[in-house]
Amino acid sequence: MKYKEITDYSFFLDKDHYVYDYSETDSLDIFIKSRKHSCACPQCGEESRHLHATYMRKIQDIPIRCKPTCLHINVYKYECDNPECGTKVFTEPLSFARTSQVRTDALNTLILGMAMFMSNEGASSVLKLLGVTVSNDTIQRLYNRIKFEDDPDVEAVGIDDVATRKGQTYATAVYDLKDHHMIALLGGRDGTTLKEWLKEHKKIKVVARDRASSYAKAVSEVLPECVQVADRFHLLQNLMEHLKNIFKNELPPEIFIRGGQVLDTPPKKISREKKADESVIQQLNYDNTPPTDAYGNPVDYDDSANNYNSAEKKRQAENRKKTKDDTGSTKPVE
Ligand SMILES: [Zn+2]
Repeated sequence: MKYKEITDYSFFLDKDHYVYDYSETDSLDIFIKSRKHSCACPQCGEESRHLHATYMRKIQDIPIRCKPTCLHINVYKYECDNPECGTKVFTEPLSFARTSQVRTDALNTLILGMAMFMSNEGASSVLKLLGVTVSNDTIQRLYNRIKFEDDPDVEAVGIDDVATRKGQTYATAVYDLKDHHMIALLGGRDGTTLKEWLKEHKKIKVVARDRASSYAKAVSEVLPECVQVADRFHLLQNLMEHLKNIFKNELPPEIFIRGGQVLDTPPKKISREKKADESVIQQLNYDNTPPTDAYGNPVDYDDSANNYNSAEKKRQAENRKKTKDDTGSTKPVE
């Protein structure tokens, strides 16, 4: 097989754009141009080939090799030649970044994904290591800009409570059950905001929810005809709890098993006493001669500090004997 170097880098973006240059210093700058020389007018839809001007758009993208990566796109502006149309000049749209965006959709997704699991400051620092330049204020602005497109005609929804930030603030998330995309994020989880929202969505026939009574109550009050089902997660949770209760009632608190057999009564405890091997003891050789001083005279061990007849020592000996009797691990001291 012969190998051929690829010169087409359009897989970076989309098939309508190609890379015509790049420069690499501390950052990576990629220069991009559109393949097409015509574009449909966003207002009337008529295809225009009437070029008005070009301009450079600079968009930050997901870093390559942890280097700040910037796309420089030579964007075309077209004139709409349809005399009926109100639009005179329009800009070609980019599939990876809308008109006002300075970061690609992919990069914004990465930033928001990171910020979900840490503070804005933390996300900003970690992203900097990866090669993304974004301030914590910008992360907050991105968050504030997230909007959920509500559907007043939705017929089946899933409702669940979510923590918007590290378990601090709770909200109620409403999903379209058809494709599970979020259509509303309501403040609190006591059902008050949900009730108001449901009043504007009277076509709902099915609600999948958790087992919290606040949601059940809100749905019953506003949409009494609506079918309420517990979602899969909570069904499983219900089942597990039920099974646990059955086991708790049916099974004794202690079960004794020996040799694969379940015993009716607790087995007798067997205490094993280790007998010392006599032959090993025979081999041991102690030097029992008393120590001597420099002149060869035996030195007696001075044990005068320990008065074994004191009340304290007697009590300690008594305690030792008692402990051994209780545990039965060793023979009581005679
Ligand atoms: Zn037009």
